Formats: sequence, C-alpha cells, structure tokens
Amino acid sequence: MPPEFTRLQGQEHAQRYLLSLLEQEALPPALMFVGPSGVGKATAAYEWAQMLLCTGDRPPCGRCTSCRQMKSLSHPDFHLLMPPGERERVRPERGLRPFPPGMGSLQIGIDEVRRIREELQRPPVQGTRRVVVILDADQLTPEAQNALLKSLEEPPQGTLFLLVTSQEHRVLPTLHSRSRKLVFHYLDYASFVRALHPEPSQPTLLYGLTRGSPGLARVLVERGVLHHRQAFLAFIHGKWEDLVRVLNDHLQGWSAFDLRLVVLIWGTLLRDLLLIKLEANPHHLLVHQDLEERLRETASRVDVQRLFRGLYALRMVDVALERNLSPLEALSLFLAQVDPPHFKSTFLEIHQPGAPFDVWAWFAHNP
Ligand SMILES: [Zn+2]
Repeated sequence: MPPEFTRLQGQEHAQRYLLSLLEQEALPPALMFVGPSGVGKATAAYEWAQMLLCTGDRPPCGRCTSCRQMKSLSHPDFHLLMPPGERERVRPERGLRPFPPGMGSLQIGIDEVRRIREELQRPPVQGTRRVVVILDADQLTPEAQNALLKSLEEPPQGTLFLLVTSQEHRVLPTLHSRSRKLVFHYLDYASFVRALHPEPSQPTLLYGLTRGSPGLARVLVERGVLHHRQAFLAFIHGKWEDLVRVLNDHLQGWSAFDLRLVVLIWGTLLRDLLLIKLEANPHHLLVHQDLEERLRETASRVDVQRLFRGLYALRMVDVALERNLSPLEALSLFLAQVDPPHFKSTFLEIHQPGAPFDVWAWFAHNP
C-alpha cells in the first residue's frame, strides 16, 4: 500500500509532491513550507517526517517503534526547533502545533540553533535519516538564520531540514536560496469542513471569514469573538450601549491577537454593509449571510462615509498593534475615529482606572 497523509486536508499539490519525494533516494537538504497561517503546514511537516522515519509497511503505519516515538515526540532522529515560548503548546495529536502562536517569547535565538547543530554532528541514531522541523522560521533571529545557513550549506549526512513559515519575506534570501519552496494555499470548502471535524455550527460563515484556514476558524470559535457582531452593528448606527457592555466584559482579557480577530470580524461586517450600500445584489458575496436582514437594516441607517471611516479606522488598529500599543489603546483610536462625539462621552465608561494609556493626552497631541 502506498503511503498517504491522513491528517493533512486539501493541499493536493503539496501532498503529491511530498509523496513523490518519499520514493526518491536523494532528498533535497531543505524544504521551506510557505503559505497562510492555519492551513496545515506544520501538520504536513509532522506527518511527512513521520513517513520519512517510519519503518512499517505503509508509512506512517502508526505501530512501529518509530511511529510511537513520533507520537510522543521522543524520536531521537526528529528535531523540533521553535520559539521557546511555544514549546508547551505542541500537540502532536492535533498536527504538531495549534495555530495561533502563543504569547511567550517568539524569537528563536542562536543558542537554539547551536544546540541543534551540535546534535547533528552525531550520525542518525536509529536509521539513516534525520528530520529537523523549524516552526515559525521567520522568527529566527538574523544570527540564528546565519548559523542555520551553515548547516544548509553543508548538510549533515541523511539530514532533512523543513522550514515552516507564514511570513516568508522575513526569512533571509540566503536561506531561501538553499531551500526548495513548497507553497500551501487556503483550503477549498470541502477540505476546510473536513479539517474542522467535527463540523462547526456555522461552516459557511467561518469559511468566508478565514478564506479557508481551518486553524484560524478554530481559533475564532474557541475565543468566542463571533458573539459580538450584533453589538458592533448597533454601534455602527450610533448605539453604543451593547458594545460598551461587550468591551467592559471582555477587553481586559483580550490580547493583541484577540483584538486582531475582532478586527477581522468587524472589517468583514463593514465590507458587507458597503456591498449592500452599493446596491449590487450581493447575497452570495456576503460573509455574514446569516445576518443579512440585520445588515440591510443597518445599511439603510448609516451613510457610506461612516463605513469608509470605519474601515480606515480598523487599519489604524492594525498599525497601533504593530507599534505595540495595548488592545485598549488601539481600540480607543478606532472608536474615536468612527464616532468622535460619542467617544468623548462614552470612553470613560470603558476606560479602566489605572490603565497606562492616557487617551486624552494622546488626542491633545494628535488632534
Ligand atoms: Zn511506522
């Protein structure tokens, strides 16, 4: 029986390519898995490593010593390099590492690479092959990337490097030129739903929101950020009460990543409202089809400028988060942009005493 991927969904091109490589004696020294977050790159790296190291009949057989060691990540010829803060989040049973990255230290320093390079000086322990998976390769510091480059230039016997990244532009050109690139894509709808097994309650909505990233969809459900859509629509046509309640209840617990999820949802709501405003027949284009009636009602009450202002202000939230402003600070900018008069009277209700950011001082300097 030929080997096959059991956990990785979709990505047919990548699957075919990786399976064809399995049959070859001479593997490339390094592959770089690139593509959007949450579409299966880490899962593919893990499953393929399992196949490469499996000694059973139909890799990955799941029964041989090697496969069992892979399940507990204790295989002596499997090396995993990742940001130290991420290590405790590794879940082989869920495809190695759940998206998104955690909140710990995200950089992979040169010491981590040195440690691996030292281990690679010994020959493989169990067979002739050895696999080094590097998750979030874009998080390698420049020094760490240069140290790794040495290994890629003179790859130790039987060693295969798998670099995984969703931000390939942050990987040095020298590492790119030493690795063969394999592109992963957003999933088609059927593969997306299969990957999310058991099927979530609103698969179409999740597909529209994530464009086909099951990892991101899972996070949207887990973080419960989909519950606040109605409150946001009310806010868009000038009613703040519900949104203030949501922010009072949740803002303290939101990380910058959570706020990015919220921005994703709000952005697509604004986009849907604009589509309705433009009076095309947008039903099949709407991401939030389940709220169509409510969207139409909201759209009839707001002007286009307010919607554009909202979209622009959401972009500012992104910029603010990139500059390490807190979620409260970033959100304040948004609310103030969209609805300045209400903001002044309402902000004090959501502003937590003792928070480090003085929004009024900020406005004094950025009118
Ligand atoms: Zn096996």
